[in-house]
Amino acid sequence: MIIMKSEATKEEIANVVKEIRKFGLEADVSRGEYRTVIGLIGDERKVDFAHFATLPGVKEAVPVETPYKLISKEYSKLFDEEGERRQISVGNVNIGGDDLVFIAGPCTIESKPQLFRIADGVKKAGAHILRGGIFKPRSSVHSFQGLGANGREEAEEALSWLHEAGQKFEMPVVTEVRGETQIDLVAEYVDIMQIGARNMYDQDLLTNVARKKKPILLKRHFGAGIDEFLSFAEYIAAEGNKDIILCERGILPVGKGKNYTRYTFDVTAVPVIQKETYLPVLADPSHATGRRDLIFNMSCAAIAAGASGLMIETHYNPSEALVDAQQMITPDELKEVIDACQGIHKVIIH
Ligand code: PEP
Ligand code: MN
Repeated sequence: MIIMKSEATKEEIANVVKEIRKFGLEADVSRGEYRTVIGLIGDERKVDFAHFATLPGVKEAVPVETPYKLISKEYSKLFDEEGERRQISVGNVNIGGDDLVFIAGPCTIESKPQLFRIADGVKKAGAHILRGGIFKPRSSVHSFQGLGANGREEAEEALSWLHEAGQKFEMPVVTEVRGETQIDLVAEYVDIMQIGARNMYDQDLLTNVARKKKPILLKRHFGAGIDEFLSFAEYIAAEGNKDIILCERGILPVGKGKNYTRYTFDVTAVPVIQKETYLPVLADPSHATGRRDLIFNMSCAAIAAGASGLMIETHYNPSEALVDAQQMITPDELKEVIDACQGIHKVIIH
């Protein structure tokens, strides 16, 4: 919708109409007592609203349509979606269904025995999906980057451990894919491909991972608004892959003072996103808080907010982990979290 200034001339209005037609749309001019408002008829997504905002006589140019129609609840009927929560089946697990789903495992896979011992622990604690990082996004080039950084052979070896652990403990597996050169390799070994917070904006990566036709776990960038998060999820859906699991993992904290947490856990995002889209939403209290002493409470909060499940970093001896030791919990603690969350879930689904 283009809102004209009250003093806009006939020529300026005519010019806006002409510009709208240039984009292949029609204009619906509505002259009020004080100002004229011009509606756009056609696919608004083709239009550059910033361009219209700079035209003479224009007060505001505002998109009315959602930029994420394919995954939107409101438009779901247009695309043969039920509009109900989409259920994504991965092996024996159903994400977005009536039951909560817990993804657990180490931040980073360090060795086969480490991974298998953690996999055993999280399975016994009640987890459904095993996670483990191989290509790690790190702030410093000098930090441990995951086994994937040691060349293709080690990357493939670590991926094969993850796959094997998944088979042995009967859990589908997920790992992050950071770059396009990793896509084919990762797709061979995992059930769910994760796109991390830092890469949420990488539209080529989203598109190319989507083409593998495997479920994708997309994490919200810590600086992204909810509409941006969903707009980038739309890149995946636009490839015909709607098996998208969204994950809230904390946004940038405010102010310069000490905030006491790694990020700000945007628990509100969970129900808000669920009103906007039919895709399932998980939460990651590990990265959101960066503190193992907060995982229990924040897990409960996310489930109370309606999340379909959680992703929690777990280690039999958190302090010895090379990456994110400060935010890992033990399998015993994971079990307490899962039990508490199941109780809360029972209350909120009724
Ligand atoms: C992760 O889950 O391994 C991770 C790096 O998280 P994020 O992308 O949310 O920082
Ligand atoms: Mn981590």
